[in-house]
Amino acid sequence: MLFRQLLDSETGTYTYLIADLVTKEAALVDPVIEQVDRDQKWLKELGLTLKFCLETHIHADHITGTSKLRELTGCEGIVPEHAHVACASRSVQDGEVLRVGEIEIQAIATPGHTDSHMAYLVNGTQVLTGDALLIRGCGRTDFQSGDAGTLYDRVTQHLFTLPDETLVYPGHDYRGNTVSTIGEEKQWNPRFVGRNRAQFIEFMNNLDLPNPKKIAEAVPANERCGRMASMV
Ligand code: FE
Repeated sequence: MLFRQLLDSETGTYTYLIADLVTKEAALVDPVIEQVDRDQKWLKELGLTLKFCLETHIHADHITGTSKLRELTGCEGIVPEHAHVACASRSVQDGEVLRVGEIEIQAIATPGHTDSHMAYLVNGTQVLTGDALLIRGCGRTDFQSGDAGTLYDRVTQHLFTLPDETLVYPGHDYRGNTVSTIGEEKQWNPRFVGRNRAQFIEFMNNLDLPNPKKIAEAVPANERCGRMASMV
């Protein structure tokens, strides 16, 4: 399996390129519109065919590259079920397994950051956690139908029940971290360690963070699969 973590440094967003090197099929998870040329270069140089782009959730901080990549490659655009994205090729349900050649990508419903968020477990060994679980952190829950109690339940009851050695690849990092494990996050993640559900909700509801710079354009554009208003 080819597994690459690619960074958009302006927004601290990780895109993941996953490919079966025998069949040459590939998937991109959470592509960023400004990085489509980079992603296409990787696909071309490695001789890969993009089968689908997959979103962990409807992002508020960047615009997805899925629409452009669909136009350029003819790939599918797949979003979590219940995401309000009428233009997607299709949606993926909790527990569903998507295949890229011999690689299995299993969706795990992890709402809380948004109401339709999925994590993706790749071949049972690494989990793309989107913004549900970050390295020593988690996504905020104060907009986009976020719910702190739901996030606490999903992380502690679903992600933290994966084997300790499962590699954690987040949707963002703002401190230069790249990968962690479920075992490490259970032991060291300061959002969850030492906090019960009520304390977590209290903490998350009082973060008092400014809105992401691009929220006003990013959310409506992502609900159109990444098309800008001028492109509609
Ligand atoms: Fe997000």
